[in-house]
Amino acid sequence: MPFDMSALLKKTRKPKAGLRVHRRAAIVQAICDVIREDWRNGITTTLISHEGAIWAALRSGLCLEGMRWPDADKAARDILHQAFARTGAKRPAWKEGQPEWCDGGVIRDTRTNCAQCDGPLEPQQKTFCSPRCANSNRAKMANQDNIEEMRAIQRLRKARWQAAQPDRQCHVCGTSFKPKRSNQILCGTDCAATWGRGHQHG
Ligand SMILES: [Zn+2]
Ligand SMILES: [Zn+2]
Repeated sequence: MPFDMSALLKKTRKPKAGLRVHRRAAIVQAICDVIREDWRNGITTTLISHEGAIWAALRSGLCLEGMRWPDADKAARDILHQAFARTGAKRPAWKEGQPEWCDGGVIRDTRTNCAQCDGPLEPQQKTFCSPRCANSNRAKMANQDNIEEMRAIQRLRKARWQAAQPDRQCHVCGTSFKPKRSNQILCGTDCAATWGRGHQHG
């Protein structure tokens, strides 16, 4: 492997111990926005559904910036707690997760078809017609969870990118704005319309 100077510099740089206050506030806000939006849109069932994925992503991001793992882990946890406290996210009680609480003894007995393949259920079967259907369903759920977690992380990355961008000046009206995309030169839809009219014949 070729000698990598930047990797060495990164290693020898003094590790950071904490996050600056304003940056931390921006991360907390971004997390609040993402978890509220997914919960409101019915993508997650609770505000804490993305907890594990966001924690891991925050921690690895801070580690890559040179923070030591235990500090990054603690910082990520503190940020998450702050975001959960602000959105009013609460952990469900243990009993609320149990089948008798969820089903109320009613829903369980009304299902007559497999939740995976819709085939008929035997009287002793509750949800799936076969172990194969139970496994497929579990895999499908896990995959869907992963997709949603990845989308949440991508939105957080985008928010971080946006926050790090210097203000730009709109090419039409001259107002400063925070870009949402790297190639953005106009502040909003009004100026985009003006710009479009000006470039119609070009
Ligand atoms: Zn089935
Ligand atoms: Zn403008």
